[in-house]
Amino acid sequence: MSRPTLGNPQNTIEILQKYQFTFQKKFGQNFLIDTHVLDKIIRAADIGKDDMVLEIGPGIGTMTQYLAEAAGKVIAVEIDKNLIPILTDTLSGYENVQIINEDVLKLDIQRLVEEENAGRPIKVVANLPYYITTPIIMGLFESHVPLYSVTVMVQKEVADRMQTGPGNKDYGALSLAVQYYAEPYIVANVPPNCFMPRPKVGSAVIRLTRYEKPPVEVEDERLLFDIIRASFNQRRKTLANGLNNSDRLDVPKEAITEAIQQLGKGPSVRGETLTLEEFAKLSNSLWQYMQ
Ligand code: SAM
Repeated sequence: MSRPTLGNPQNTIEILQKYQFTFQKKFGQNFLIDTHVLDKIIRAADIGKDDMVLEIGPGIGTMTQYLAEAAGKVIAVEIDKNLIPILTDTLSGYENVQIINEDVLKLDIQRLVEEENAGRPIKVVANLPYYITTPIIMGLFESHVPLYSVTVMVQKEVADRMQTGPGNKDYGALSLAVQYYAEPYIVANVPPNCFMPRPKVGSAVIRLTRYEKPPVEVEDERLLFDIIRASFNQRRKTLANGLNNSDRLDVPKEAITEAIQQLGKGPSVRGETLTLEEFAKLSNSLWQYMQ
């Protein structure tokens, strides 16, 4: 095993020049060049030699080197074929790293965990490509991939959305979906100068610790999420209107009115004031009409 050699601007520039690499904007390529931030991510991810880590988008392998030092095994999935020779070079000192040249959204992660970790839960760690943050995170949770935690760099605004509750302007379907599956914790805010090239937005590291069992019980997960989506689709409308206008909810108007009343709320209540527990209650009241 060798010590990490990447993580500072000089070495990153050297590697990029050696391979005449050009950044592809469409892949959300902003590489980390700050060793303090890298240390923070690794500490927050709480990785040990028993862990298998899935890294999404290793770039030139900066964080991968740190992960390989800490974990038993690292699987790094990178879409950009131009980065593969670089990764083969920068990770040549690590025997516990497997590089996969694939679009992570097309990868059967469930099968990967089955084959490479005997179905035992993994830890996901990444400096995510921001253009697909939500599909990556929701895909991991909704497909029920065995997971301990997801520790990721995301756009600051998205981290806030994942962590916030009712009454906040950032509260929405993503907050509820994430909080149904995991406990969010913002580890650090990260300014643009920690990346090459600098992104236009601020970033944050968030750790999502997967619940063994969701904090609320629902008869039908899909119905819960259909209701949540319908409630936030038309933000300026009342909850009742949002639900009545949804083409995925075939429920009589009276049933919606009654279910809202049962929550102890008035007819003009808006979806953005409801907690996850209240959405779960609403979903269980309406479930009988969907049978
Ligand atoms: N981990 C590196 C770092 O911290 O320096 C790079 C992070 S960069 C923000 C995002 C990485 O994800 C890039 O290397 C990009 O090519 C890769 N990527 C973008 N879309 C992807 C996808 N659909 N599947 C796998 N990797 C992807």
